[in-house]
Amino acid sequence: MATERTFSILKPDATRRNLTGAVNAVIEEAGLRIVGQRRIRLTQEQAEKFYEVHKERPFFGELVSFMTSGPVVVQVLEGENAVAKYRDVMGATNPAQAAEGTIRKRFAESVGENTVHGSDSAENAKIEIAQFFKDSDIAA
Ligand code: ADP
Ligand code: MG
Repeated sequence: MATERTFSILKPDATRRNLTGAVNAVIEEAGLRIVGQRRIRLTQEQAEKFYEVHKERPFFGELVSFMTSGPVVVQVLEGENAVAKYRDVMGATNPAQAAEGTIRKRFAESVGENTVHGSDSAENAKIEIAQFFKDSDIAA
């Protein structure tokens, strides 16, 4: 299995509750390395573009408004099988269905305010990383 990278966001519910360190500890304990990290405020345009695939979904407006409601931490994570591994560590989208020990089971407040984003494929990871990081900032 090759080393790969995935894109992560610690969402506004995490920064609001001072949970960025606690979430990062779970990420690092899972063997994922945080190779890029920046705390930013998403603009409406950035949030709409990032979640464009969901624009026809009934929760799209709520999602964009939540993601711009406070600061987020955008991250690049690296490790063996990082995309699938981080999805496992995150847990199911709805915290009520997330497995014990996962980030969403431990910390998420609801299906919308669910603490973290993680890319769902290596291809999308590349696109999402490029939206927020310059190659020179995350050089090996
Ligand atoms: P995931 O983040 O697990 O990949 P999705 O891609 O399906 O989940 O959805 C993107 C984000 O949209 C979720 O993380 C969550 O913040 C929000 N979301 C998904 N489903 C709902 C819902 N039924 N109601 C409100 N927000 C939702
Ligand atoms: Mg998704």
